[in-house]
Amino acid sequence: MATSGIGLSSPDFEGHAMFKTEDKLSHTNHVEQVPNEGWDERVLVFRNEPLVDTFMVITERYAVVVDTMINPATAVILRSHAQQYLINRQLLVVNTHADYDHAWGNQVFDAPIIATRACADLMRSAEARGMLATMQANEPDIFDGLVLTPPTILFDDKLIIDGGDLTLELFATPGHTTDHLAIYIPEIRTLLAADAAELPYPVARTNAGLPAMRQSLAELVARDAESVLYCHAPVTIGPQLLHDNIAYFDKLEEHCRVALSVGLPANPPADTDLAAMISLPYVTAVPATQRWQEVHPYYQTTGHANQIRAMLEYLQSVG
Ligand SMILES: [Zn+2]
Repeated sequence: MATSGIGLSSPDFEGHAMFKTEDKLSHTNHVEQVPNEGWDERVLVFRNEPLVDTFMVITERYAVVVDTMINPATAVILRSHAQQYLINRQLLVVNTHADYDHAWGNQVFDAPIIATRACADLMRSAEARGMLATMQANEPDIFDGLVLTPPTILFDDKLIIDGGDLTLELFATPGHTTDHLAIYIPEIRTLLAADAAELPYPVARTNAGLPAMRQSLAELVARDAESVLYCHAPVTIGPQLLHDNIAYFDKLEEHCRVALSVGLPANPPADTDLAAMISLPYVTAVPATQRWQEVHPYYQTTGHANQIRAMLEYLQSVG
């Protein structure tokens, strides 16, 4: 465990999604392999506690590193795990998206890095450089020496990696971010959903991303995977999380539509209790089980309110 440095007053749980520089997050370089809980043995899961899980898929032809974690130090550990598989295989790297917890270890890999074109654009953006500068100032031990390294093989909608025994279908799943991709492996009915679904819900970087995120959830669930792994949810939560995320947004839409239909404002003042306004507190918007009811309070208050506001804005925009 490496949670001691994390201030729970700051939304560290949301660090992957909407990192705000004033949040004073602290990170670690600790990486451990997560024991297999029943998924195919060719899929490996690694964890940088408590921030993110990343993956490695070992096929006949390729060892595919899916996401490179937060910095060179964590990526070097991933690279050393991959090394043992490279006797008769080539190394490939995939970035599910450009967020710092997924792509900031890219520089240590002397291998093709595959991602969407939008991911490469984001990694070259002034915003990414600014965020790196801020994080280097706040946590030099973690982020010094980091060079933003954009992916090198780019696609827009879909790309297939034929690994011999396993096929990796990479497909765009925008919403959380514009550049997001997920991976489906049909031979083992395994889906790597990355940040397109999360416990208790994924977060769209912008309000405009909400409909895209719901469309992506629909595409993910349509794969009917037996095994689904996420970057920010327990490894045992399974495909049900996709259904639960979809149900959450459906319920939100239903309640927001009712509120608008009785004349409540689509753009209420900032101090409005939005959950009360649409009669949908967090506790009833999600499954009644402990796992959902015990998420960090942020998700039950501000995070939930942000989702409601995004939904109201979306419904107003479509009339
Ligand atoms: Zn993330």
